[in-house]
This record gives sequence, structure tokens and C-alpha cells, in this order.
Amino acid sequence: MNPLFSLASKVALITGSSRGIGLGMAKGMAEAGATVILNGSDANTLAAPVAALRAAGHSADSVAFDVTDIPAMQAAIRDVAGRHGRLDILVANAGTHGAAPLGQWTEEAWDRVQDINLKGVFFAAQEAALLMMGQKSGCIILTGSMTGTRGRPTIHGYAASKAGVGALARTLASELGPHGITVNALAPGYIVTELNAPLRQDTAFVERMTNRIPLRRWGQPEDLAGIAIFLASPAGSYITGQELYIDGGLATAL
Ligand code: NDP
Repeated sequence: MNPLFSLASKVALITGSSRGIGLGMAKGMAEAGATVILNGSDANTLAAPVAALRAAGHSADSVAFDVTDIPAMQAAIRDVAGRHGRLDILVANAGTHGAAPLGQWTEEAWDRVQDINLKGVFFAAQEAALLMMGQKSGCIILTGSMTGTRGRPTIHGYAASKAGVGALARTLASELGPHGITVNALAPGYIVTELNAPLRQDTAFVERMTNRIPLRRWGQPEDLAGIAIFLASPAGSYITGQELYIDGGLATAL
């Protein structure tokens, strides 16, 4: 493997990696040589993907925590670093969707989306950064969304949380750069996962959106693997504070 893209001897924690985009990134990073720690809120969903990674010859482990339980999450992150000797890469990816006509957004729904998508991301990054500052190196990747900078009806709380993630990438990058830590946000477009399964039942919407995507297809979780490897490897060492669109070109097209 070209050492420029190697993650050999790196330890990576990916929140929300029991399935979907997080698992796609975890598989890619494991194939690039990292020890990957999978996470989700339910321990039962983590055993099968960890077993599959190990069966493929990769180094994988899991830690279950809910990103809305901040003390438990931060203790778990410290525990991962303790067990594996270090933490080189955090992908703060766990997220949920939220959509409703404007008048039907409740305070409870709003808070739930912010708690998982924004507060959970910030406090995961905070804990990882404190560990990485001691190591004087690290890479933090936050999963935002194209919707953080593009309007669509009904997704008010979701889009606001994702705009916040983009802002966090910039503030964290500016504070952590002097410590040798890079921070970037990914802004996926439409990726086929459980998160948007309800949306994909609207076949007219899927067709209209596919025709607007320059690459003429929705993404798959594996489409996020390359950018995660790139940012976490020596190849990405001078990239920080960016929000990178992984969207088949959608955000750039009229
Ligand atoms: P999925 O629903 O497929 O996966 C979500 C993951 O997050 C699961 O592993 C889930 O595990 C975990 N998760 C959810 N809530 C929590 C929680 N409170 N604590 C810990 N883990 C949690 O979604 P995607 O893979 O599509 O989404 C991943 C990220 O990508 C999200 O941040 C999403 O907003 C973002 N994104 C997705 C897009 C898409 O088109 N799919 C587009 C743009 C952004 P469990 O349920 O077991 O807790």
C-alpha cells in the first residue's frame, strides 16, 4: 500500500457505525490498516459488523454508547484510548433525521435532532481532542450534510444541526491546528441508508433527484470511504477546516 494513504497502526473511533455511512467509512479505514472501533447506541447491532471485519482479517472492536449521554460517551472515549493505547482518528458521524411540515415541528423533535446531530458531535470532538492534544496529533472528521448549506422544505431542525456541524469544523480546526490536529466536515448528498428509507419510498422524488445529480445516481455508504481514508492519512495532513461535499456533484449543479 502507498504509505501516503496508509492508516497502519492508527486507532479510529467512528460513532454511528453499526450500519450506513459510518460502517462504510469504518470498513474503508480498516482496509487501509486502522484498528476501527464501531459504535452505536445498541450493543446488539455491533457484534455482526465487528465479526465481519475480523473475518476479513481486519482489526476491529466496538463500544456502545448513546451520543446524547455526554458523560457516558466521554468516559467511553477515554476507555477506548486507554484500551488501545491511543486515539488517532475520531469520526463523529452518529446522526438522525428529522422532517415535518413547519407547523408540526415540536420542541421535543427539535431538541432530539440537535442533541444527537450537534451536541453529540461537539462533545465527542471535545473529548477526543483533549486526548489528541496530549499526543500532539490527530484527525477529527464530522459528518455534516449538504443540507447544512442548501434549503429544502420540512427539514428545518435537521438542516440547522448540520449547518452547526460545518461551523464546528471551522472553530475546532482553528483552535486545534496548533496542536497538530486536523478537523474537517463531510457534507454527503443523497446516500442510500436506513436514514432516508422513508424518503426513498417517494419514487417521483427519487427520480427527480437522480436526474439532478450530475453522476446520475444516489451514493452508497462505500462512497464515503475514500474521503475518510484520505483525510486521516498522511495524504490529507495539510487539509483542515473544510466542508467537503460528497454528493455526486449535486450541490454544484443548477
Ligand atoms: P443510518 O440511520 O443508516 O445510521 C445511523 C447510525 O447512527 C447508526 O449506526 C445508529 O446506530 C447511530 N446512532 C443514531 N443515533 C445514535 C445515538 N443517539 N447514539 C449513538 N449512535 C446513534 O444513517 P446514515 O448512515 O445515513 O447517517 C450517518 C450520518 O450521515 C448522519 O449524521 C446523517 O445525518 C449523515 N448524512 C446522511 C445522509 C444520507 O443521505 N444517508 C446525507 C447527509 C448526511 P443505533 O441506531 O444502533 O444507535
